[in-house]
Amino acid sequence: MTMDRRTLLKLSAMGAIAGSAAASAAQAQTAPPAPVGKRKARWICLGTKGGPRVGTGRSNPANVLIVDDVPYVVDCGPGVSRRLVEAKVALPDVRYVFVTHLHSDHVLEYGNMVYGGWSAGLNHPVEAFAPIGMEALTRAYWESIKFDVDVRIADEGKPDPRKLLVARDIKDSGPVIDTGKVKVTAFKTPHPPITENFAYKFETPDGVFVYACDTSFNPALAKFAEGADVLIHETIYVPGVDKMVARVKNAATLKEHLIASHTTTEDVGKIAAMAKVKKLVMTHFVPGDDPTITDEMWAADAKKHYGGPIVVAKDLMEIEL
Ligand SMILES: [Zn+2]
Ligand SMILES: [Zn+2]
Repeated sequence: MTMDRRTLLKLSAMGAIAGSAAASAAQAQTAPPAPVGKRKARWICLGTKGGPRVGTGRSNPANVLIVDDVPYVVDCGPGVSRRLVEAKVALPDVRYVFVTHLHSDHVLEYGNMVYGGWSAGLNHPVEAFAPIGMEALTRAYWESIKFDVDVRIADEGKPDPRKLLVARDIKDSGPVIDTGKVKVTAFKTPHPPITENFAYKFETPDGVFVYACDTSFNPALAKFAEGADVLIHETIYVPGVDKMVARVKNAATLKEHLIASHTTTEDVGKIAAMAKVKKLVMTHFVPGDDPTITDEMWAADAKKHYGGPIVVAKDLMEIEL
């Protein structure tokens, strides 16, 4: 029997539900995916490693929410284009982009992702939302690639991508956009030393997804995420950080910085419990490239506080509502 990679990842997603003693039995009962067009809103984790370093394992932060076949890309870390293609999302189909903050691991491939769509036939507007700085970053991106774009417009008869991509800076918490299918709300959450940083709530016809990545431990997020079907939240594994910083100078300072700006595996469980969400998805793993940290280790401390299902995300894993 052969299985494609998506099916395998779906099975592993079920296996990753912490505390599931009957994981293999559950795997055997996995129903085949519903035909395209009849599926509920789908959230696919594209890249699950925190930080900008590129490796051969987990890719850098990126996700896609697909509602009625319209892709909403959420964070654009290095590798987002390739992961979208691997998830069977055509780059020219991307219609909306949301970036949580301007740390490079969340935005470095934003311009190139839209460029990739343009080079493959993009001919509709793309709206991109992020904290203050996104509009300037977008202008700077087009300036950096001006030579190529100008040549191709004249040489290949393509539309001007600079007019198709509309970037908007978000200044405050509140409604961002309502597409008729998806209502998006932003919530400012601290990520020291960054203050211009948002969590997003996506209200779809099938359920509510809340994405908090990156953020320090912020109990106010529990109120924002209250009752959500899925909370996708970043996390940091403190013993793993000890090991990581032991290899570099100024280790104590680095550890303090990482813990101040991220949320420990234990605190993620507290947020999920306070918010009474139906499912917790842990992602943006720091450190995300230490193979000795197992799924059970990522979930163990969160389970002390949260009794619902916990998914330890993997690249290309689809999150079921
Ligand atoms: Zn990050
Ligand atoms: Zn960050």
